[in-house]
Amino acid sequence: MSKVLVLNASYEPLNITSWRRAIVLVIKGKAEQVEHNGKLIYAELSLPTVIRLRQYVRVPYKEIPLTRRNLLQRDNHTCQYCGYAGDGLTLDHVVPRSRGGGDTWDNMVTACVRCNVRKGNRTPREASMPLRNPPRKPHSSLYFEVARQIRSGTHQEWKKYVIGV
Ligand SMILES: [Zn+2]
Repeated sequence: MSKVLVLNASYEPLNITSWRRAIVLVIKGKAEQVEHNGKLIYAELSLPTVIRLRQYVRVPYKEIPLTRRNLLQRDNHTCQYCGYAGDGLTLDHVVPRSRGGGDTWDNMVTACVRCNVRKGNRTPREASMPLRNPPRKPHSSLYFEVARQIRSGTHQEWKKYVIGV
């Protein structure tokens, strides 16, 4: 069912909610509709796709876990060396483990088996295999989910509210 992006009063993305909950927030006057998809629910209420809270909410920072799944998602399931997207992707340590490279967001990238083997025990520079995107720690799990929704083509209108997706 349709999801709704909730913005803080400051216009920063806050979370993703169901359209039902979003409608309740709008009806109660706690949020205003920012974007809608034109489908009418009631006489004067369209189905929102982005709403904004009237009151600013403070949110504690939530650490995003470094997992295989999250790394693949960050890298859009694409080999960061050759651009291959498909089955059998592996994780590569940019600076190899044997040379002190750690399990961190900025030292791990998605790589196809071929590139992983070819790179071997070398750095991208030594192997002349530049990375397509410098690996970074994602902002938050919300950005992750928003990026996924935008990529799948369901919520293009969310794009302008999220920087770096
Ligand atoms: Zn590759």
